[in-house]
Amino acid sequence: MPWPAAPDLLAPLAPWFGRVRRDLPWRATDLDAPHPDPYAVLVSELMLQQTQVATVVPYFNRWLARFPTPQALAEADEDTVHKAWEGLGYYRRARFLKAAAVSVAAEGWPGDLEGLAQLPGLGPYTAAAVGAIAFQWPAPALDGNAFRVLARLLLIEGDPKIRAADLRTWLAPALEAHGPSRLTQAIMELGATVCAPTPACGACPLADACAARQAERTGEIPPAGKRAKPKESAIWLVAMEAEGYLLLHAPATSGLLAGLWRWPTIEASELASQTPAPGLVPMLAWPGWTQVYTHRREAVSPLHLRLGTRFQAAEGLRWIPAADLSALPLGQRDQRLRDLLATPGQTPLEAPDPAALIRACATLLG
Ligand code: SF4
Repeated sequence: MPWPAAPDLLAPLAPWFGRVRRDLPWRATDLDAPHPDPYAVLVSELMLQQTQVATVVPYFNRWLARFPTPQALAEADEDTVHKAWEGLGYYRRARFLKAAAVSVAAEGWPGDLEGLAQLPGLGPYTAAAVGAIAFQWPAPALDGNAFRVLARLLLIEGDPKIRAADLRTWLAPALEAHGPSRLTQAIMELGATVCAPTPACGACPLADACAARQAERTGEIPPAGKRAKPKESAIWLVAMEAEGYLLLHAPATSGLLAGLWRWPTIEASELASQTPAPGLVPMLAWPGWTQVYTHRREAVSPLHLRLGTRFQAAEGLRWIPAADLSALPLGQRDQRLRDLLATPGQTPLEAPDPAALIRACATLLG
């Protein structure tokens, strides 16, 4: 590796971090000692995957108040855990966190990086980040931010992830020299606040040493990944109410939506192909929105239908007392419809032809 020695190159980061570090609730005051609460580090690292710091802070505080220890989380039921995660998205993280807590509550914290990496949901990055920040192990934690910073600093051509093994070897002595927790968090902080996709090199403590800056190539290092065009779809999101009950899909036990209750949905194209029953339209109770997911965009049209009587729900659907709705964990899209239902002044449309609606919906939802 023809790269300059990491302990020297990264030396300005430690004092810079000491000056600018944000006061975040999971950050320990003493960066030279093991963290007093490794569980707080684990919670923060899982919450911060895919989610901005500003969003995570209130969730983190509520989570620690609700589940202050791995034991408390291990003993909580799934609905309670999902409810506490509601709004953060990527709910698999909540299930991983609970599974990790069950393991830690039963067997204690692993004693090495390999053991940490075997906890549910901890890939190489999270295991290394928790190892460095919680336990002061010199484990290089390379996430998207770190790859971007190091690629620019060292002028790495192409995808820097391909050089992950070399970068870990290169970085380890710097962690030893400047403190695993301090340097790991300093690199994270630099990537989040200064060496962002559009870098603010004028404020960077590494500017004098940065090869991409010297080559005036910060805009092209690292190269932007090609994004597949998101798939487009259009659905009706249906809150069907009858006799004080609402119809919802019970949570799946596995997959991306495991643990979450969901409103029934109808593909817009399916509804258009139905023979309209008299009085079936208009049914749109509120303006719709576009729900953006990682690989797709969904045009959502929310409906609130009031029926006179409940019908036999198809398999997987349950009639839930309306009063219980607020206690159920829902994904972000479905929370929006729940919020619309709860907004004062909203007048749900009366279904003028309940029998036709029941027929249409029972067919579509079956
Ligand atoms: S000088 Fe600019 S490109 Fe280089 S590490 Fe600093 S912020 Fe990033």
